[in-house]
Amino acid sequence: AAPVAFLGGTSRAARSGIVVKGGATLEALARARSVAFDKTGTLSQGRPELARVEVVEGHDPDEVLRLAASAEQFSSHVLADGVMRAAHARGLSLSEGSEAQERATDGVTAVVDGRSVVVGKLRLVRETDPTAYPCPVRSGETSVAVAVDGRLVGHLVLVDPLRPNAAATVRVLRELGMQEVALLTGDNVATAWSLADEAGIGSVHAELLPEDKVRLVAGMSHRPVVMVGDGVNDAPVLAAADVGIAMGARGSTAASEAADVVITRDDIGKVVQAVDIGRQTYRVAL
Ligand code: ADP
Ligand code: MG
Repeated sequence: AAPVAFLGGTSRAARSGIVVKGGATLEALARARSVAFDKTGTLSQGRPELARVEVVEGHDPDEVLRLAASAEQFSSHVLADGVMRAAHARGLSLSEGSEAQERATDGVTAVVDGRSVVVGKLRLVRETDPTAYPCPVRSGETSVAVAVDGRLVGHLVLVDPLRPNAAATVRVLRELGMQEVALLTGDNVATAWSLADEAGIGSVHAELLPEDKVRLVAGMSHRPVVMVGDGVNDAPVLAAADVGIAMGARGSTAASEAADVVITRDDIGKVVQAVDIGRQTYRVAL
């Protein structure tokens, strides 16, 4: 197609809050046959609220939350933000913390008030306390494990609802001819399925590492594949997909850098608009 068409499409997209980086991207969008979504911060709102603190007997919920939030100051994960907001809402004053290490996909470790604090996935906490047990969660909830000085002290249960227009976005993408719509997440199976059900997605892969997301997208049979994500853990798969779309408004810098398209408004519906602009630019015959 003519460069003129490409330029017209790209600038129209930019005006809509959709930054298209490469020349081939609009055409791949126009031809896309599958879409894979990340969960946390992509299909979900990414503004998690603390529902409750489940403590191991003998521990104080507010102190568990305060230590966890102090460590989370060093994390860029969307759940970290929810944990810190909850601590502030309860009037808890955070400690500064030191020796922090962010584990891109699993959580964060730090020394807070001279105590070693681990916050994140159960498998991370199990590295320090092999006896750590999972927290039962209800539909829509996700849990974050907390260990202090090598022992599990509790779980923070957060609720991160589906974006209001996520189900409509999935439906319209199918109407536009997407043969496969999948959910790929690093979160647990129960949380993944409850959100997928609400969004109208029947293909669900949970507890994934960044490289698992890459492998699954590479294996999708209807191509080109569009991947939509926001997190640090999505950067490899956004780079590997035929079209990587980053939710850039509140997502990680790593995701935006790795993606072919950056949505600069916090609206999942922009994925439909991006495909539309690709189709209008290249008039792909369906
Ligand atoms: P997705 O791939 O859907 O974006 P993630 O891989 O981020 O999801 O998985 C969400 C999980 O990440 C939560 O269950 C939580 O246990 C874990 N997690 C990772 N880092 C953190 C952190 N800094 N604070 C809290 N939870 C974290
Ligand atoms: Mg995410």
